[in-house]
Amino acid sequence: MAAPRLPILTYHGVNVAGSDYASNDHVALASDLETIDRLGWRIVPLPDVVARRATGRDDWAAPRTLAITFDDGTDFDWRDLPHPAHGMQRSLFNCLADFRRDSARDAHATAFVVVSRETREHIDRVGLANRGWWTDAWWAEAVASGHAAIASHSWDHNHHLVAPPAGRERATGTFRSIDRYELAEDEIARATAELRRLAPNPGDRLFAYPYGEANDYLVRDYFPHHGARIGIDAAFGDGARPVTEADDRWNLPRYVFGRDWRAPEGLEAVLRDAS
Ligand SMILES: [Zn+2]
Repeated sequence: MAAPRLPILTYHGVNVAGSDYASNDHVALASDLETIDRLGWRIVPLPDVVARRATGRDDWAAPRTLAITFDDGTDFDWRDLPHPAHGMQRSLFNCLADFRRDSARDAHATAFVVVSRETREHIDRVGLANRGWWTDAWWAEAVASGHAAIASHSWDHNHHLVAPPAGRERATGTFRSIDRYELAEDEIARATAELRRLAPNPGDRLFAYPYGEANDYLVRDYFPHHGARIGIDAAFGDGARPVTEADDRWNLPRYVFGRDWRAPEGLEAVLRDAS
């Protein structure tokens, strides 16, 4: 069997700037699920793949399988919501449910969520529509559905709208500045412990770098030395390629919709490159 090449596709539920494929991650996902199925690809749960890859077996991913992930964890992931400018949005997980119903195929996604409730409520208030659309109320239900994993996207995304705690000054709006132990503990260890308290599930062993921004300290030092202690098995960065055996498990690549493909043909090219 050829060595596995597993594409991981990423969508953002909050990305709704219109109602067509290129401007709306929900529309794109619904379309992409049909493309994936038509081309004979199958969707597998990301935590399962990571666990198999960690065993060292060389068949850790079957041919023509891929994983789907959602970033940030706004309620647009889980609940259908009336967007103020662009109308009712089918949630990303409901797009998967529609696909399962229509195709009789399995479809699973891992949602990388911003764990801090205070941060989510603050950004919802000052940076989104101020409608209480960034909650953790759905995490346990999503896990119980059997079609979702909930994983960490850090404590507060080091978001530019959030002030770092006193004594922890650093550049915000980037994750490259999380380059020493105390900051990594704040952003990563703390988030994983809290996620595990709120919604324990196989996804809580995964981490996705905010902005896709890994850095040398986290990849080469923090995770290798502290991953086992904090209970993280893999971290995902922004490399736009399929995951292969050669990839460092602390910086596994993903494709991001809107950046790495913007049309159904773009997805077909991604899948071609991985087969
Ligand atoms: Zn993010």
